[in-house]
Amino acid sequence: MTVKTVISAAKEFGVPERYAIMRRLSFLQPQIKHLEREIWGAQRRIERSSDPLVKALTESFIRDQEKELRPLKREATALLNHVNGKETVLAPGGITPEMIDQARQYPITSIIDFSKGRYRCCPFHKDRNPSMALYDNHVHCFVCNRSWDSISATMELDGVNFREAVLALQ
Ligand SMILES: [Zn+2]
Repeated sequence: MTVKTVISAAKEFGVPERYAIMRRLSFLQPQIKHLEREIWGAQRRIERSSDPLVKALTESFIRDQEKELRPLKREATALLNHVNGKETVLAPGGITPEMIDQARQYPITSIIDFSKGRYRCCPFHKDRNPSMALYDNHVHCFVCNRSWDSISATMELDGVNFREAVLALQ
């Protein structure tokens, strides 16, 4: 996919361009990270191994992974450049819009535990029956009648301000 495809799809569906780009990036970035980790691991295996067959097979594995990685990286860079080119304004306290997005993408389930299911007791009020539900990467409490994303949940649970929460979630 190209930047143009993402932008024209955003226009077609009436979604803000920046939102579409960030969604696409949040899809690409874990794949990039995964491939980079695989390549890194394979390089360590080559260093450790003295078996020429293992080395040859691992090298060909690395080549395959790199082939997969290249277009993903190219696209992610193009998307980031597009976003950065338009938004060079720094948010107060030296945090960038990218840092805010990064913080919002931080898994909320690492902040509020949902290992037992999609519903749990709300940590923000005295809750005896599960009133809090998990949606995508935010939570909603039907008693508090409020939603939290990773940033606002961190702010409230840790008693920190917006900037501190964004920095903590990088
Ligand atoms: Zn609540």
